[in-house]
Amino acid sequence: MARETTATSLTRREFNAASVNALFVGMTVWMSGCSGGGSSSPASPTAAPTPTSTPAPASTGDKSGAIAANHGHSATVTSAQLQASGAVNLDIRGTADHDQAVQLSADQVRQIAAGTRVIQTSTQSAATSDGYGGLTPGHTHSVTFN
Ligand SMILES: [Zn+2]
Repeated sequence: MARETTATSLTRREFNAASVNALFVGMTVWMSGCSGGGSSSPASPTAAPTPTSTPAPASTGDKSGAIAANHGHSATVTSAQLQASGAVNLDIRGTADHDQAVQLSADQVRQIAAGTRVIQTSTQSAATSDGYGGLTPGHTHSVTFN
């Protein structure tokens, strides 16, 4: 009888230990399952840049004038200015080292928009020192549209 009791006792102890182990393993699985919940939904891939955010190409409605004796100037009447059909004081500095402008009347802007040739002389650039105590006179540019 005594041996049976002992055997039963051992068996119960083993069973209890197994239960504890099973419980512990179950908790571990539950905990890892819980912490893994965040990573179970993979982060969405980095959003690709939307095509609409890329800079728009130069507007095809702009009109650029041909500048005589050019040295870095650029004369462009924007499509918005053409549509406004008002007088435009065009800054043609571009990459030149001095400011010059082309003043276009409202009529001239309308003619440029209509494709009619318009030739306008720019304002005169400021005189600059020639390095010998004198001045180099300013210059103008003839700007031709269309
Ligand atoms: Zn110039």
